[in-house]
Amino acid sequence: MPECIFCSIVSGEIPAEFVLRTPAVVAFKDLNPQAPTHILVIPTEHHENAAELAQRNPGQAAAVLAATEQVAHEAGLTDYRTVFNTGALAGQSVFHAHAHVLGGRDLEWPPG
Ligand code: AMP
Repeated sequence: MPECIFCSIVSGEIPAEFVLRTPAVVAFKDLNPQAPTHILVIPTEHHENAAELAQRNPGQAAAVLAATEQVAHEAGLTDYRTVFNTGALAGQSVFHAHAHVLGGRDLEWPPG
């Protein structure tokens, strides 16, 4: 899926500040951070959103979840938020499944 920006990050065509790379997932710093730590964890396969990923490749969905804990731990976080935006009205702007890992400041609830 060459038109997908996150596929281009997986393939290395577009640079990113990587913090983790495995055969199943890639994690990198968000270009527009919303917290002192803001990391995106994405599956290496293209799936439009987290639900589609879970249905079509449960193993890779589990790898994404496990990686959120790993990158948070490696960033020194014990308290953090993992977010999957699904659909434009929920704030999804890149239609390749991804988890946001946010931390390093007080995070309010409910989110805006
Ligand atoms: P969402 O709005 O949930 O789809 O999240 C997409 C996220 O991707 C946003 O937080 C963007 O700041 C981030 N983003 C978009 N392009 C890049 C990029 N080239 N490198 C890093 N983060 C990006």
